[in-house]
Amino acid sequence: MAAIVLDGITKQFPDGTTAVRSLDLSIADGELMVLVGPSGCGKTTALRLVAGLEEVTAGTIFIGDRPVNDVEPRDRDIAMVFQSYALYPHLTVRQNMAFSLKYRRGSGKDEIGRRVAEAARILELEPLLERKPRQLSGGQRQRVAMGRAIVRQPQAFLMDEPLSNLDAKLRVQMRAEIARLQRSLGVTTIYVTHDQTEAMTLGSRVAVIRHGELQQVAPPQELYLRPANLFVASFIGSPAMNLIEASVERGDGGPQVCFGPHRLAIGEKPVREHPALERYLGRKVVLGIRPEHLEDASLARDAAAGSVIGVTVELREELGSEVDLHCAVGVAPLHPAGLGSEVDADRDAGGLGALSARVLAGTEGAGALAGTEGAGGTEGAAVSGPAQVAGPPGAAPLTAPAGPVPSALAATIVARMDPRTTLQVGEQAQVQVDLAALHFFDPETGTSLRG
Ligand code: ATP
Repeated sequence: MAAIVLDGITKQFPDGTTAVRSLDLSIADGELMVLVGPSGCGKTTALRLVAGLEEVTAGTIFIGDRPVNDVEPRDRDIAMVFQSYALYPHLTVRQNMAFSLKYRRGSGKDEIGRRVAEAARILELEPLLERKPRQLSGGQRQRVAMGRAIVRQPQAFLMDEPLSNLDAKLRVQMRAEIARLQRSLGVTTIYVTHDQTEAMTLGSRVAVIRHGELQQVAPPQELYLRPANLFVASFIGSPAMNLIEASVERGDGGPQVCFGPHRLAIGEKPVREHPALERYLGRKVVLGIRPEHLEDASLARDAAAGSVIGVTVELREELGSEVDLHCAVGVAPLHPAGLGSEVDADRDAGGLGALSARVLAGTEGAGALAGTEGAGGTEGAAVSGPAQVAGPPGAAPLTAPAGPVPSALAATIVARMDPRTTLQVGEQAQVQVDLAALHFFDPETGTSLRG
């Protein structure tokens, strides 16, 4: 087992594409680090660089204390598990697992047999050892692929979307198995996925990558509670965080956050928690509200006046444990000039489902719901609604159309409500906002104002 350090890693391909930019990442000995980000963000390239399947353009990779830039892949002592299991169809499960040890120095027949038996025991593959891959289910094949990595007793596992060929139910099951296995073996692991739910449930820490650049690396809950910027805020969490252009004012009763006809009396606490917010008094900010922090005010115990907004229910999704309401808030939707579609496409790619930015831009009907494989508490949901999209750091300033807001263009927020809510489509609803859980971002840079 060994720590892995990526020190200022850049990868530029001969055609000029820079897939990874100045990536600094330290993975502790025995840690499971997940790299997550949209398709094409450079996750696989980063993994291939660690494996030695690509050469770095700049920077140094360390496995343990050893710089490995010039070390051949087979001498890096790592095992990879890919999306395609790449099992040999003509070999049995036992032979598939033993194969990688066969030509290794110091692996006698007894040692190989012992390691295969141990891996088969851990993975509960013992009854299947004499079967060929075609006689196995997808989950069993995936376990054999894991077994092949385990028998090598490597310094590290590198896993590239190893579960994406499995159906949703099996994926959840295998995800738990991988987490358990990784903990019990204590092998340093880098796991690549585009699925934020997978990332959040698996990783001891999660590195969010966009355009080859690290956006934030933190434990899952930290990413959720304190996203460093708009990209992380809109990528992590399902349904996505609602993002609204707002202004912060100092009213009679203290600081208020204002958008459209709404005024939330946020009090001094958010200002204390977001020291940078003080500087934004009287200025525009991007307000972030997670769907789970919006509740039907009639079900809330003490819905203070300054914490309630009036909305119109546009869509009701009944998910059993919760009801998701899509509500018009009477303000223009927030969408970045240029880059919003990428964030939204990312989320689609992440199996989360979201309306495309075209809807937010008003070029598509609001009923055009994308299918979703579900994530988080809404796993298995048939549809999911619009994720409010905003620009990542460095994006063009966020823009909201001036003047009156045509209803097709009005921003929709998603509220994840108690299933007892009786609110129906077309109803005017009073929605309570959890003022203790608001997020604020700079509209120009996308950076969190947590300071
Ligand atoms: P996905 O989730 O779709 O697999 P990813 O995040 O793993 O995406 P990479 O495969 O690492 O992304 O690709 C990162 C970028 O580098 C992409 O723009 C891709 O087109 C580009 N790229 C990858 N391999 C090469 C190559 N051999 N030559 C040129 N560009 C490449």
